[in-house]
Amino acid sequence: MDEALRRWGRDPIPGPAEVRNQEVNMEPRKSYHMNPEDFRQHGREVIDWIADYMKKVESFPVLSQVEPGQIRASLPPDPPENGESFQRILEDVSKLILPGVTHWQSPNFFAYFPCNSSGPSILGELMSAALGVQGMLWITSPACTELETLVLDWLVDMMGLPSKFRSDKTGGGVIQDTASSGSLCALLAARERATGFKTNENGCDGRIVAYASTQAHSSIEKAVKIAGLGRRNLRLIDVDANFALRPEDLSRQIRKDREAGLLPCFVCATVGTTSSNAFDPLSETGRICREEGLWLHVDAAMSGVAAICPEFRHIQDGVEFADSYCFNPHKWMFTNFDCDCFYVADRSVLIRTLSVLPEYLKNKATESGAVIDYRDWHVQLGRRFRSLKLWFVIRHYGIEGLRHHIRRHIELAKQFAGWVRETDEFELAAPSILNLVCFRHVAGDDFNRRLMERLNSGGKLYLTHTTLDSKFTLRLCVGQTSTEERHVRLAWQEIKDAAAGLATEQTGPA
Ligand code: PLP
Repeated sequence: MDEALRRWGRDPIPGPAEVRNQEVNMEPRKSYHMNPEDFRQHGREVIDWIADYMKKVESFPVLSQVEPGQIRASLPPDPPENGESFQRILEDVSKLILPGVTHWQSPNFFAYFPCNSSGPSILGELMSAALGVQGMLWITSPACTELETLVLDWLVDMMGLPSKFRSDKTGGGVIQDTASSGSLCALLAARERATGFKTNENGCDGRIVAYASTQAHSSIEKAVKIAGLGRRNLRLIDVDANFALRPEDLSRQIRKDREAGLLPCFVCATVGTTSSNAFDPLSETGRICREEGLWLHVDAAMSGVAAICPEFRHIQDGVEFADSYCFNPHKWMFTNFDCDCFYVADRSVLIRTLSVLPEYLKNKATESGAVIDYRDWHVQLGRRFRSLKLWFVIRHYGIEGLRHHIRRHIELAKQFAGWVRETDEFELAAPSILNLVCFRHVAGDDFNRRLMERLNSGGKLYLTHTTLDSKFTLRLCVGQTSTEERHVRLAWQEIKDAAAGLATEQTGPA
């Protein structure tokens, strides 16, 4: 026992009187915290580090080239007993962590969908961390709630969304972590509306059905599983030649399900699918939902951002039929992850679906009914002050600045699509309306797979793939904050060179 205590560097456990004495004798000024002056100094070092990173990010291999387990093996297996200098921590980030980072902020990052960031967003995030606010209730930080409500109302007007999504009408917006969470909340509210709020009481009875196209994001399937509908009750509706949902197939399936005694309740339509950036016909889908009394959720995760430019607003024609809508400033609006804006047309349904009020959260402001308590608008209780970074971004760029950069990305993607169209070796695999180009080499799946692997292991760019019409297809998505024409040109050159190299290896030199 004594040996054990010696190892902890402590005397035997004191009795109550000794405890009091010890408390009195404790060194009152001893603290392990970083004091404000040290914070000021190290904060400057960190900001310098970030600014340097932004300047040199394109010099790193875009896709991290480490092997599984390599980063962990390079780090000490145990935590330090004694605190270390900030200098050492920062050095280790550069030396040990950076090699395992895939550089999403590189201008040569063309994979998946972007996750772009910007100076004002990072600074807003920093301020949010400093304030350390937990904005679950209005009372726990009124500014956290009221700024969020204001910024989400701004965005309704900025993006040309229906005014029913504004907080001064029947609806309102809330910042969720991700589109996945937004879609889940939409489905939960739809489930409750369809069952007269009985499912919250009794659980699902296996009869509730949801619909989305075969091209909908996997988060819809996940939401269906979490919401207890059961995966078998998700109907994936066929798409047309442009990979957009076929409304007539949707109608037919709803009718069939009703005839089978099931309860259709929810349709998710996508504005810009993940695979190919297809646009589901919102007006026709919306009319079906209205006639059938189904909840229409619109998932506009990345592409919704383009609606800030009036000339691209046609992508959301029919959004006035939507019961809920979400898009991600963390994808394409220069706002660092995470930030999804989720709107409902009737907030009372969402709140009734998710509200639980234990005694310890009761307060006069909530009881007055005069405030929004965002804890009732999403799954988790606690919430960060995310609107701060979005507010910083919108105020820094202004609508004009945001439009400028979105338009530029779309122009660059169009330029790239034009180059693809001009060659005989490559073909476009889907219409390129905004910032995504789906294309492939004519030499077939195996060739395209090897081409992608070669490009990504070279480190000069990063792109990913999908399958369209059962063919392996490359995707190049332009959306990084610092991507310029030279990066897209370089990417095209790299792609052509790598393809030529592969072709030569296959057939031998001409
Ligand atoms: N919906 C669509 C159309 C997407 O493309 C994505 C991700 O790429 C998501 C949803 C999921 O986004 P999140 O990571 O915000 O959940």
